[in-house]
Order: sequence, then C-alpha cells, then structure tokens
Amino acid sequence: MKSRHTEVLIIGGGFAGVAVAQRLANEGVGVILVDRKDYFEVTFATLRNVTAPHLHGNTPRKRYTDFLKGTFIQAGVESMTRTQVWLDTGETIEFEQAIIATGSRYPSLPEAKTQTGLSYSERNKEMLDAHDLLALAASVLVIGGGTVGVEFAGEIVSAFPEKAVMLAHSGDRLLQSSEPKAQRKALEQLIEKGVKVMFNRRFKKQGDIYLCETSGENLSVDIAYACIGMVPNTEFLQQGLPDIVDNKALIKVDEHMRVVGYDNLYSLGDCAALDTHKHGFLASVQGAFLAKNIVKAIKGKKRKPYKTPPLVVVTPIGINSGVAQLPFGVTTMNFVVNLKQKDLGISNMYKTYGTEPDVH
Ligand SMILES: Cc1cc2nc3c(=O)[nH]c(=O)nc-3n(C[C@H](O)[C@H](O)[C@H](O)COP(=O)(O)OP(=O)(O)OC[C@H]3O[C@@H](n4cnc5c(N)ncnc54)[C@H](O)[C@@H]3O)c2cc1C
Repeated sequence: MKSRHTEVLIIGGGFAGVAVAQRLANEGVGVILVDRKDYFEVTFATLRNVTAPHLHGNTPRKRYTDFLKGTFIQAGVESMTRTQVWLDTGETIEFEQAIIATGSRYPSLPEAKTQTGLSYSERNKEMLDAHDLLALAASVLVIGGGTVGVEFAGEIVSAFPEKAVMLAHSGDRLLQSSEPKAQRKALEQLIEKGVKVMFNRRFKKQGDIYLCETSGENLSVDIAYACIGMVPNTEFLQQGLPDIVDNKALIKVDEHMRVVGYDNLYSLGDCAALDTHKHGFLASVQGAFLAKNIVKAIKGKKRKPYKTPPLVVVTPIGINSGVAQLPFGVTTMNFVVNLKQKDLGISNMYKTYGTEPDVH
C-alpha cells in the first residue's frame, strides 16, 4: 500500500478547495489536493449546460491537472484521523495540516452536482444525455422553489418555450432566504415566461405519477427534477472524527475556519458551519482568506478572524432576465443581471484561480 506525506492536504476540489490550494501553492507551500473527480466544475453553469449545451459547451469544466499548481490525486477519501487519510485507491496520506472542503451534493439532482460522472469525458456526456432526455419531454415538473429550482425552471422554459413547465414549492414564497422583493420579482418573471408556479405543494413519485401530499392532486409529467435536499459531504468523518460534525452534518469551525478542538484541521465552503448562505463565490472568498491566514501562521504572524463579505446573489431566470440581490437592495436591471448572464461567471471563476476556461 502506497503512503505519502504532505505539508497541507486539501480534501475536495470545489470552489473552496481550489481557491485555497492555488494560493498556498503560489506561496510555495507543499500541497496535495484530493478529489473524486478529475476536473473542476463551475456549478453555476450546469443547469444551462443541460437546457442549452451549445451556449457554453464544456467550458464550465476543466481538468485539475491543466491548471492546478500543487499535486493532484484523483481518489475518494474514505476515512480520516487528525494526521492521516485513507483513500479508496488503497493509498494513505499523512499530513501536517488538512483542509476539509468536501462541499455538498443534491442526491436527487445529478445534473447539478454529479455522483457518477467522475471523469471529464463522462461528465460532458452526462450533460448531453440529460439534455437529450429533457428535449424529448413535453411536460416538466420542477420540485423545489429555492435558487436551484427557480433557476432550472427559468432555464427550461427559456430554452423550450413550447414545453409545459410547472414549478411546485412546499412553502408560500420562492427563494425563501432572499429579500421579499427578490421573491416577488422571481415569481413575476417565471409566470411571464409561462411557468405554472404552485405553492404549498409536496409532490412525491408514486408509480408513474406525482402525488401531492398536501393537496391530494396528482400530476402525470414526462420528466421531473427534484431540486431539493442539499446534503453536506461529511459521511467519511463518521469513523475517525465523529465529534467534529454537528446535527446538520456540517463541520464545526471557529472564526479562523479551524475545526473546533483540532489545531491542524480546517474546514470551509458548503461542508462547514461557517456562513449560513452556501454559495460558490463565498466558498472561493473563504478559500483565499484561509490561504492567507495559513501563510501568516507559517511566518509566525497574527491571523485575522473571518467575517462574511457583503452578499451579492444573482439568480438568472432564463437567458435574458433574472434577479440580483445586492447589499443595498434588489434589482432586475439588465446591466446588473447581465454581469452574470454573459457566461454565468465561468470566466471570472477561472480568472480567480489564475487560469481561463478551455476552448468551447
Ligand atoms: C445548480 C447550482 C447552481 C448554483 N449557482 C450558484 C451561483 O450562481 N453562485 C454561487 O455563488 N453559488 C451557486 N451555487 C452554490 C455553489 O455551487 C456551492 O456553494 C459550491 O459548490 C460550494 O463549493 P465547495 O467548494 O464548498 O463544494 P463543492 O463545489 O461541492 O465541491 C466539493 C468537492 O469535493 C469533492 N468531494 C466530496 N467528497 C469527497 C471525498 N470524500 N473525497 C474526495 N473528494 C470529495 C467533490 O467531488 C467536489 O469536487 C449553485 C449550486 C448549484 C447546485
């Protein structure tokens, strides 16, 4: 069994893991990044990749080995202690410090974050297959009125205006954690595009139909997407470090992103109990901040506590509209929304990591 040693081990190459890895490697820190996949993916663009693959092609994805500066190992981490991880390849890695950035998944929506498309080519094919399935459907049910459900319903109706698109939400407002104006504007834009929005509905599949637990109505649709149930990827900690996970399966951290009770372990991004809002751009900001603090600590300098930056959330609703929630208000003005519409933030994210998207 092969065994390695590293100064800093980063588990998970999403927005958080890549941001911290790239900056530490730039500072000359010895870094190994481990991820199940062999590519980074800008999740912001995955839904449009399904509805309109010709627009951005494979540009949301890029192989780690084509841009990452530290060492990359493709493997799943199966278990972990305070000094070592065990990989599903049979390898072990000993580390001085480890950063847990394993993010989250949507078990019922592989289009958003894959469970099985672990290679660049498999994932590209998975997206095209998902597009073909959607293209064949005449009626579509989107379950969940959070950001992912609202965005997906908007993308579907925008790419396929002839389809009957329904959005069913268990609450009485869309985008529950947004400002009331953002909730209202999102609803108006979806209705204007022809989406039938249903509130206080909980649809579950029963045989060939979708049955609503709350209203008793049933729907027969060609395809449905359950945009609900984000789960943190922290199960691999259950054996060796069960005490670091809270009752929401999030990793407990202090204001320095240090895992509570462990001096050499850090966590950030979707898997950490850090910011209440879970966003890729926040994960990336956290990654840059943590890298700076780790370098300061290596140099014996004082580190600063992390503070959540002002929140900017742009939810595209189809290719020509959307809602932007800024620190000073909510707007649907095109010049703001279009900042994201251009390429859904793909180029910006890669620029942050010192690279650019692959050619279309
Ligand atoms: C459809 C969709 C649209 C979104 N749009 C936006 C948006 O517009 N703007 C925005 O800011 N945010 C958006 N988000 C949220 C954003 O994607 C997440 O907040 C972000 O992915 C969190 O980044 P992360 O690095 O913490 O984790 P992730 O991106 O989930 O990355 C975690 C990585 O860890 C790897 N991993 C997990 N477990 C293991 C293991 N045991 N061993 C090895 N590797 C492992 C995974 O393969 C993955 O690469 C969107 C999310 C979705 C689903």
